[in-house]
Amino acid sequence: MNATAAKPAPAGLVPLDDALKTLLAHATPLGRTETVSLLAADGRVLARAETSPLSVPALDNAAMDGWALRAADAAEGAVLPVSQRIAAGQVGQPLAAGSAARIFTGAPVPDGADTVVQQEHTEALDGGARVRLLKPVKLGQHVRRAGEDVQRGATVLRAGERLTPAAIGMAASLGLAQLEVAHRPRVALLCSGDELREPGSIAPADMPAGAIFNSNRYTLHLLLRRLGCEVQDAGSIPDAPGATVQALSCAAESADLIITSGGVSVGEEDHIRAAVQQLGELHFWRLAIKPGKPFAFGRVRGAHFIGLPGNPVSSYVTFLLLVRPFVLRLAGVEHVAPPALTLRAAFDWKAGSRREFLRVRRNAAGEVERFANQGSGVLTSLHWADGLLDAPADCDIARGDAVRFLSLTELLA
Ligand code: AMP
Ligand code: MG
Repeated sequence: MNATAAKPAPAGLVPLDDALKTLLAHATPLGRTETVSLLAADGRVLARAETSPLSVPALDNAAMDGWALRAADAAEGAVLPVSQRIAAGQVGQPLAAGSAARIFTGAPVPDGADTVVQQEHTEALDGGARVRLLKPVKLGQHVRRAGEDVQRGATVLRAGERLTPAAIGMAASLGLAQLEVAHRPRVALLCSGDELREPGSIAPADMPAGAIFNSNRYTLHLLLRRLGCEVQDAGSIPDAPGATVQALSCAAESADLIITSGGVSVGEEDHIRAAVQQLGELHFWRLAIKPGKPFAFGRVRGAHFIGLPGNPVSSYVTFLLLVRPFVLRLAGVEHVAPPALTLRAAFDWKAGSRREFLRVRRNAAGEVERFANQGSGVLTSLHWADGLLDAPADCDIARGDAVRFLSLTELLA
């Protein structure tokens, strides 16, 4: 990449990293918790660490169907009498010296035995009364040791982690039936714009000139839901100051966070900022990134407030970069930084004065291709993309350069 001189962000615009710091400084975890059953815990944030009440496995056990014996008795070609049979769920007797125990996967290895020989490396004689060993045997082979997976008392699930099917399986393997998780953050969602019409309320062919369908209501609702929020769809706000104040004030009564779309730019029909200042305060406004300049953060009465841009790509991108870490932190998640990869660009790019997040896709060679139209209203670019390329300000990109790639799949997980 070819940097011209490092320049400060354009006047009056907040650099993205500063914006994130301010957001996280205000994102005190909400702290309300509830106890839920394992199947209801998927995707929730664990509120209290869990330590293991037992070791897993609890006893040394066989990793294969075969024979438990002492390695010292197990020379290649040796023939051993079979002294007992131990199936999974049973516990055998101490192993008689010089003998072998028939054993099945998962069954506890009897006292005195130190090794399991797999069935395929043996020959049963006299209808299973004796067994011949056909291969050399290694001391300790095919024995799963007690506690090799989890030690009793170890912390197995950490407070602040988002629970996955694997984490919940771990809880089940330790006998835990319920987990204490953070309450879902309550987020009120409002869309502003007199031009908006709801899908289903009017046939596309009958749309008046200048009207558009409300798409942000759906994308933002679903993004919030994926992050584990309880979404309160508070409908639309007309482009009028009084109605905006009333809608925000009403949303603040029951929400932890109010998110609006549109109406936070510099036009005369943008009434949201003034309403926020009247009802609370604005911490900052306008980001030094593209897309997504008209972004506002503040407070409306007791609720946090985030004003997203109206353009569909801008609201989506700023949601992933800033709202995502903010709401995860409200729920108590510790690690909220987006996972980034370093990949190679398959195109040349002329930098602008703002840091830019390009809609890109990995090709079969693992390089990153760019969607041709990077306009902030072009939702097709997001539908096509599998990631965002973090293109620095004032720093051109040449084909083959290493670039920072944020996977949309991971950001949406
Ligand atoms: P604004 O931020 O209100 O100036 O809106 C910027 C652009 O985004 C305008 O072209 C709006 O029509 C469009 N827009 C605003 N809200 C939405 C929405 N909910 N869904 C789709 N497009 C929107
Ligand atoms: Mg508007």
